[in-house]
Amino acid sequence: MRLAVVEDDDGVGEALVEAFTVRGHQAVRMRRGADVLTAHRGFDAVVLDLGLPDADGLTVLRQLREVTTVPVVILTARSDERSIVRGLRGGADDYVIKPPRIAELLARLENATRRSQPATAAPDEARVVEYADVRVDLTARRVQVGGVEIALTAKEFALVEVLTARPGTAVSRQQLMDRIWGDAFVAVSRSLDVHMTGLRAKLDRPGLITTIRGYGYRWGA
Ligand code: CA
Repeated sequence: MRLAVVEDDDGVGEALVEAFTVRGHQAVRMRRGADVLTAHRGFDAVVLDLGLPDADGLTVLRQLREVTTVPVVILTARSDERSIVRGLRGGADDYVIKPPRIAELLARLENATRRSQPATAAPDEARVVEYADVRVDLTARRVQVGGVEIALTAKEFALVEVLTARPGTAVSRQQLMDRIWGDAFVAVSRSLDVHMTGLRAKLDRPGLITTIRGYGYRWGA
């Protein structure tokens, strides 16, 4: 497994990375909550401490859950029932109290990872999304409006890709920023507005991309 270890304590963090590595896993240590928010991609699971220097782990967990379903196992000294329930209700897949038994922690991580696997992999087929006279060929990366091809920038096309992944379904601003910029919470909110404005102007189809106030956007009906 590729594991992100979010742990500010050097002794604990290094011991975990070493223990995972000698058992054949790849582990990357992160010290702050902000680190995992911008670098959660590509990991099979996250080990998340709650007492972090920049944010409470439960806040980090909530923010992670806005953008990813990556399995998260909380690893903390907080052993009271209230904390455990808050962690599990907050979206953690499991909750382990320090000090961990490494084999047990790994078994729990493997369990959480197995549950998160999709039952069937999506076939690698050509994808075309059509709405009224707008035709998006995601495989060829081409967009036609009224039969005329329009040229989109890479970021504008990325917006189309994320929005059309599930037409008719709301996508939050955080999800868009995470998918396109890899940073849902820090610095790119203004960029999203700029590229969204450009995309809408090029498409010239009011109502195709609906703004959901206080949340995000939706493609199509
Ligand atoms: Ca800590």
